[in-house]
Amino acid sequence: MFGVIEGTGFEVIDPAFEACFVGHVRVERLWTGARWSEGPVWHAAGRYLLWSDIPNNRILRWDETDGSVSVFRQPSNNSNGQTVDRQGRLVTCEHLTRRVTRTEHDGSITVIADRFEGRRLNSPNDVVVKSDGSVWFTDPSYGILMDYEGDRAEPEQDGCHVYRVSPEGDIARVADDYLKPNGLAFSPDESSLYIADTGVTHEEGGPRHIRRHSVTADGTLSGGEVFAECTEGLFDGFRVDTDGRIWSSAADGVHCLSPDGQLIGKVKIPEMVGNVCFGGAKLNRLFIGGTTSLYSVYLNVNGVSPV
Ligand code: MG
Repeated sequence: MFGVIEGTGFEVIDPAFEACFVGHVRVERLWTGARWSEGPVWHAAGRYLLWSDIPNNRILRWDETDGSVSVFRQPSNNSNGQTVDRQGRLVTCEHLTRRVTRTEHDGSITVIADRFEGRRLNSPNDVVVKSDGSVWFTDPSYGILMDYEGDRAEPEQDGCHVYRVSPEGDIARVADDYLKPNGLAFSPDESSLYIADTGVTHEEGGPRHIRRHSVTADGTLSGGEVFAECTEGLFDGFRVDTDGRIWSSAADGVHCLSPDGQLIGKVKIPEMVGNVCFGGAKLNRLFIGGTTSLYSVYLNVNGVSPV
């Protein structure tokens, strides 16, 4: 478990990346046996990590206390991206049921969003909760394009958009110029919202970048310039550290982007990475969903909370 795993390691592109890790630290493979790993989320109180194995229709749980992995929820409705809100409740995107849900403290499940203007959503992909309690999520069509990670269906929306659900439960469309909006995260002070577009999966020469929007007090977005282009595969899910760096999934591992969008380094992973999150008591451990496996690596940075 603590030996060197072939194909892993740190790749420094800009010397600024050297401050982000301890040289002798190794990437660990914590578990393998998934089909497509996504939606990692850290539960601080329970000291466990949940993540989605989308095609296997289950949410898995890695327990920090003993390293065991068990099934947290099956069927999971082909769950994808997840986060926790400020009350520590799990928030989950579900492909099959085409909705975003919250798991309450008593275990019951509340639907946060499943329609916009009376029509069903496509297949919510990733979600983040702002400190004011609003829930922001992306709605590409990956879960309804095929039967592998949801049910094939005709879209009811006129495209793939980004939505915000207010603390009162009202849903609004906040971005409508994405091809396949995917991962999203706020800057540490929540003044910016980063959103990935993975449109290249279904359009030759399509977007494979992260854009940056300014967030206004009333919950609307402005700006939206391209922040960073992905150089290997796609930016799918990503997280932000307290210094404003972005740690994003990519085809060859995790790409670290400086706060101004420059690729400064990589954590190399021998499988395509779908998403990441920070965890551990100090949020200095990056958990990495890499196709069939869950990896982790300790870093010399800390993730923003909640994860
Ligand atoms: Mg995603």
